[in-house]
Amino acid sequence: MDFDNDAKLDASQVEDARGGGLPTGGLAIGGGAVGIIGLIVALLFGVDITGGGGGGAPGPEQQAQPAGNLSAQCRTGNDADQSEDCRIVGVVNSIQRYWTQEFADSGERYQPARTRLFSQATQTACGHATSQVGPFYCPADQRVYLDLTFFNELQQKFGAKGGPFAQAYVIGHEYGHHVQNLLGTMDKVRGDEKGATSAAVRLELQADCFAGVWAKNAVNTGLYETPFTQADIQEALSAAEAVGDDRIQERTQGRVEPDAFTHGTSEQRNRWFTTGYQSGEPARCDTFSGSI
Ligand SMILES: [Zn+2]
Repeated sequence: MDFDNDAKLDASQVEDARGGGLPTGGLAIGGGAVGIIGLIVALLFGVDITGGGGGGAPGPEQQAQPAGNLSAQCRTGNDADQSEDCRIVGVVNSIQRYWTQEFADSGERYQPARTRLFSQATQTACGHATSQVGPFYCPADQRVYLDLTFFNELQQKFGAKGGPFAQAYVIGHEYGHHVQNLLGTMDKVRGDEKGATSAAVRLELQADCFAGVWAKNAVNTGLYETPFTQADIQEALSAAEAVGDDRIQERTQGRVEPDAFTHGTSEQRNRWFTTGYQSGEPARCDTFSGSI
């Protein structure tokens, strides 16, 4: 992932709410590992539709800590090449620039959503959240919530390759949920929240596909110097496969239980990201009709 050195970053799209609570490194991970994994399974890359009113206007702000932004240090593509924080800003900018154009091309208006970086725990319009739930999108306040330490876990506990593009895939997936929120797609999930062919799984696979669509079109957003490489894409696919329902269930409970699927299998997540990436067309991400 190579940013155009002169590209201007818009750091106002990323809020920094880290460091407001306990000292970093204080998270207890011994003993309760199984419970923690269970929680991650519930919400990993997910969307919390239990809080707030689903789509529509953002809910009231419930800020536990004041959120700053990264505008002092993240100004250009060169900054994004040098630091992880600024790289997140660059990825968020590119994703939203792509969707702004895509919506405009269809005569619609894209509403930007902020990403909030937090450590350990944060208050959201969807309720209190800890790092243990993994990255997620809250429709009620239209924010993506991200604790960057999750990405270490993705490598160490889930066996993904890791790397900058694994992060980009996860962020692209969460913004896929924001797009679904803007389009009203999220409403389809209520009452059909688990099972191999459930609306929940269809929603998640579509978000994977949208991440792939962005990856294909990212070079046209002006943020990057060159298109992503096959090695970049492999990082995304490795992350997508690592969090497949079947793989996680096998590891945590020793058997696969399709009736409990919420996100799709490793094979499906790989395939839908690839469908988006190869076509570059959101229209090809119709996971709601036909087989998935
Ligand atoms: Zn998701």
